[in-house]
Amino acid sequence: MAVADYMEAANSHYYASHDPFGVKGDFITAPEISQMFGELIGLWFADLWARAHARDVHYVELGPGRGTLAADALRAMSAQDRRPDVHFVETSPVLRKLQRDRFPDARWHDDIATLPTEGPLIVIANEFFDALPYRQYIKTYSGWRERMVGHGEEGFRPLPGADPADDRVPDHIRDAVAGSVYETSPAGLEIGRAMAARIARQGGAMLVIDYGHEDYAAGDTLQALNAHAYADVFSNPGQNDLTAHVDFSALADAARHGGARIEGPVSQGYFLSALGIAARAAALVRHHPDRAPDIGAAHHRLVDEEEMGTLFKAMAVVSPKWPRPAGFPEKGEE
Ligand code: SAH
Repeated sequence: MAVADYMEAANSHYYASHDPFGVKGDFITAPEISQMFGELIGLWFADLWARAHARDVHYVELGPGRGTLAADALRAMSAQDRRPDVHFVETSPVLRKLQRDRFPDARWHDDIATLPTEGPLIVIANEFFDALPYRQYIKTYSGWRERMVGHGEEGFRPLPGADPADDRVPDHIRDAVAGSVYETSPAGLEIGRAMAARIARQGGAMLVIDYGHEDYAAGDTLQALNAHAYADVFSNPGQNDLTAHVDFSALADAARHGGARIEGPVSQGYFLSALGIAARAAALVRHHPDRAPDIGAAHHRLVDEEEMGTLFKAMAVVSPKWPRPAGFPEKGEE
């Protein structure tokens, strides 16, 4: 089977059987680190929505996890008198149940096709695109091949496929040395294109936050996490979280193709700082002086270059009918 099919089968089992988040789980995401993350995203949407003078806006979250980001974002929006209806695109029954406990009135979707077709969409995807299936191609001495997963005495192992795949690799990578890996997520790019087309027609914006790179160079970024440590990608499928870096330039191209404008990507540190995370942290400390060390540590973890600040990026996909969102530099700034 192709790496993409392996990743899809392993992750669907993984997310269907666990709550992967938190100290006892396998990884911690930004909304689970601090309420500040979701609150700033809620205010970002509320500001954009107010300036767009839009009505009947839908809040959409792709892969909402425990629903923590939605809880913080919707509370911050509600304080600005913005109360959208709530749509979650989620495939995991375990996570849907956690989401339903917090949002009894939300509506759930297996994929984006059934989202409302009328009215602007404000869409957040945090650590969603990295969990979608990735195809990998490997350069062999006889050209590019899709990377497959075989099963033998040592369990699952990657191996080059039999058919030539040179025409599936972009020109600028085709001449890479033997052993190079090219990866791409057709599923992610199609969701990016289709969401952008909806947003271009219906109004709205999508905020994508994920770990990844802006200038794609060949490389294998597929990784497995278990109990906060790296694990072998091909061992114990379904027990580890499998992700790969998001190729933001490819996602931006797909979304432009769908008819939307793109802002960014910028680093998560730049984005959250531009939205005022330092002021929000100071306000929280004033209300909860006893929690000052935790709030300071969370602020640091979200924005510091050595932590999530640089590896994670924020990019906005915006309807041509909507204004410029906050948090991104004017051309030539940053
Ligand atoms: N956004 C959350 C969770 C990130 S983990 C946070 O930041 O904490 C990835 C999420 O995407 C999980 O909720 C997982 O169940 C969901 N997911 C993974 N693949 C999916 C798919 N193909 N369609 C819909 N949801 C998916």
